[in-house]
Amino acid sequence: MTREHGERGDGLVASKPYRVSIEDVGDRAAAAFLGFASGDALGATAEFLTPTEIQAQFGVLRDIVGGGWLRLPAGSVTDDTEMSLCIARSIVEVGFSPQDIAERFAAWLKTAPRDVGATCRRGIRRYIVEGTVFAQPSEMDAGNGAVMRMLPIALASVGDSSVLAKWSTAQAHITHYHPLSDAACLIFGQLLHLALVGHGKPRLLALTDDFLSHYPTFKFDGKFVQSSAYVVDTLRTVLRAFFETNTFEDCVVRTVNWGGDADTTGAIVGALAGAYYGLQEIPRRWSKKLQGEVAKEVQRLARDLVARSPVAARPLNVDVPRVFLRGLIE
Ligand SMILES: [Mg+2]
Repeated sequence: MTREHGERGDGLVASKPYRVSIEDVGDRAAAAFLGFASGDALGATAEFLTPTEIQAQFGVLRDIVGGGWLRLPAGSVTDDTEMSLCIARSIVEVGFSPQDIAERFAAWLKTAPRDVGATCRRGIRRYIVEGTVFAQPSEMDAGNGAVMRMLPIALASVGDSSVLAKWSTAQAHITHYHPLSDAACLIFGQLLHLALVGHGKPRLLALTDDFLSHYPTFKFDGKFVQSSAYVVDTLRTVLRAFFETNTFEDCVVRTVNWGGDADTTGAIVGALAGAYYGLQEIPRRWSKKLQGEVAKEVQRLARDLVARSPVAARPLNVDVPRVFLRGLIE
């Protein structure tokens, strides 16, 4: 990676060479994927509920108890984690291939998953019928179904912002082709890249501010955001929770107790907070509750993805996002 992304004197530029420990990035990656699956399993209970309804039923929802509209066994994950696992397994086994990812989405859809978003279903069906991996641009594609499966892309591309931008839109467009979805995917990936190599909140906030200067529609404040499946609401919810809290658990608990699309907001914020706070901050009672081999598999895949990433090949002078890479998705 030699291209510089709009370096300027606004504090976003890291001018010194930045060396990272691959072991530390691997640990943070494992925490991100475990945090993602935990947030999904915790939030599924509250999906489509209002904060008032959640409070009436649970007080504060802070344990993985299952149920919800999908009547899940405690510790089950949903489409967010299942589709992310498809991408993670694909990259680890064959490298980045939209075709192979679409093939795994198709196989997953044929298992009749409990939940699948309408836009995801439409995109996967198009792949099954036409064999194409590119959705047509659509006003209807501004849901959060593409951003919810960005984590494996960010893990596999850590250390190279250009690779992140290229893969981010390619994976998103399998099902979702909308500028707001594209923008949300990229900023989420860029924030993950910063957190994975150990940057602090001021740096993540500076990047977020730069993103918001290009996409003010995503601006968040202290007012309640109904976390619907609209990608703008989803990202606003996630950013607000991440920047307003100081521990992994508070961040994820606050997010899912806002209800709405709580499994997806919980998963996305769980990934970011997991990468940021690290493995030791993820409640054991959550990771132990995850069903089957999910907790083990996500951590193994996360480390495998990082082992294949640009940062593993070049831990010195790591390329980390300086500004929002808007130009790379237009
Ligand atoms: Mg879900």
